Amino acid sequence: MTATKIALVGIGKIARDQHIPALAASDAFDLAATVSRSGGVEGIENYETVEALLEARPDIPAISYCTPPQVRYAGARAALVAGRHVMLEKPPGASLSEVHALQSLAAEKGLSLFATWHSRHAASVPAAKAWLADKVIRSVKIDWKEDVRVWHPGQQWIWEAGGLGIFDPTINAFSILTEILPVEVHVTGAELRFPTNCETPIAGEIRMDGPDGPLVTADVDFLYEGDPFWRQIIETDAGTLTLNQGGAIMEIDGGAQQGEGWEEPGIHGEYDGLYARFADLLATTSSEVDLRPMVLVADAFTLGKRLDAPEFIDPTLEES
Ligand code: NAP
Repeated sequence: MTATKIALVGIGKIARDQHIPALAASDAFDLAATVSRSGGVEGIENYETVEALLEARPDIPAISYCTPPQVRYAGARAALVAGRHVMLEKPPGASLSEVHALQSLAAEKGLSLFATWHSRHAASVPAAKAWLADKVIRSVKIDWKEDVRVWHPGQQWIWEAGGLGIFDPTINAFSILTEILPVEVHVTGAELRFPTNCETPIAGEIRMDGPDGPLVTADVDFLYEGDPFWRQIIETDAGTLTLNQGGAIMEIDGGAQQGEGWEEPGIHGEYDGLYARFADLLATTSSEVDLRPMVLVADAFTLGKRLDAPEFIDPTLEES
């Protein structure tokens, strides 16, 4: 198999922690160039802008975007216009309408567009989906709590409109939820806490109904100190399924479900899974764009009551 040349756009935390190692381990892709304002990756050709890359490298057919959502659309559109396949970090854009526009353009041009949800590739998500498939879901309790100062130091874009605030991690929970539940859910209400100096929320509670009434509550917090909670507890007619550590660990009625050969998972396996899926999509020139997690977030903003929270000062920005 000949590896497909790919370019990475935006060499920040997730590009360095996950995309570059996953591409290095992939037989399907060859990292051929980067687009980076800060120099890119040693030994890899770098361009200042997506337009410069597209002009100089017609031999690169696929482009993967790791930039913040607010600056994703123009570059992704330019790539599709130039006939390149596109992969997008989560969330796939700053708004639903811009992702719809990219989806239409990809279809019109006969190109692959992959809106990724890395948490759906966590180790226990497929097993959870399979176990829940024939169950009656009685309730879902999501706890998504982490310390933004530890996990997102210096990422000012998270606090600017379109950066999602606490929904930047919470959308991962919603991506798992919409993947594993055998029923559709919709947001019915929320309380969102906005620091008085930020444009996005830092904490909140979100409620969703299933087909027969109230089903999901989510308690989300970006100032949670200590070990993070990335957990969903799903009560069913046949027992309680708990997905922990962002979908890595599954328990049923308190009993671990990891069978023989199961390895302690890290987020890394999720990115191997994403690039394997992108390779599949390229092989059939098809797209995968499931916007349900983003719809739940957008509806939480639409229906949520806005409450004031104390100012948030990022200590890492104060130090710099
Ligand atoms: P980050 O560390 O801030 O990196 C984003 C990079 O994008 C920057 O380093 C910069 O790279 C480039 N960039 C271009 N225009 C920018 C602008 N106007 N403002 C800031 N950066 C700009 O963010 P990240 O954590 O990697 O997150 C990027 C995306 O990945 C987000 O959508 C996030 O939700 C998603 N994600 C993050 C994580 C995580 O754990 N951090 C996990 C999964 C997914 P150059 O200097 O190279 O241009």
